[in-house]
Amino acid sequence: MRALIVEDERKVGQFVERALSEQSYSTRLVRTIAEAKDALAEAPYDVVILDLGLPDGDGLDLLREWRRNRFLEPVIILSARDAVADRIQGLNLGADDYLPKPFSIDELLARIRSVVRRQSGAKSTVLSHGAIRLDLLGRVATLNGNPVELTSREFALLELFLQNPGRVLTRTLISEKVWEACYDLETNLIDVYVRRLRKKFETSPERPLIKTVRGTGYQLV
Ligand code: CA
Repeated sequence: MRALIVEDERKVGQFVERALSEQSYSTRLVRTIAEAKDALAEAPYDVVILDLGLPDGDGLDLLREWRRNRFLEPVIILSARDAVADRIQGLNLGADDYLPKPFSIDELLARIRSVVRRQSGAKSTVLSHGAIRLDLLGRVATLNGNPVELTSREFALLELFLQNPGRVLTRTLISEKVWEACYDLETNLIDVYVRRLRKKFETSPERPLIKTVRGTGYQLV
């Protein structure tokens, strides 16, 4: 489980980070809106803990932008703003929960478990993108309704892309998620698999499916 903590108060951030690490989450702590944008553009998270008063802006604006860009990670707002209007606004913008400061860490952990559970329960078992459909239970991929044969790694890679449309997936993230590799993959292995997916799913060169982002990774477009 990966958690992103967006919190500018060092003590609070480290406190939450420590508590989540003890629950075996891998965490990333950032202190500004700019850093949070970069973090979420780089990699998906299972949950985001979001403070609202940040040095370079308002967490609510950040949440609005994320949702507009189809970043669908569960977000729990953790804020000293306790007005009902703030809570409602946060939830309306797509936050999954709202916890006023001061908070109890046990309550935060319970709420994180709850939104993560809800999210995984609600996860669709069929992903689609344009003419592509991927049935995760039946393990079947189709293009325009016609079945396409995929190896299990090709399937896993396509699933990762379909879960993150528009997001640049770094090579490190792809190798972690698809190959579960902490070591450096043979450098061109990912390219080989991306090439195979392109061959199987790109219907014409004018309509690319997977864009190469030089020096970084790949993006489903
Ligand atoms: Ca703050």
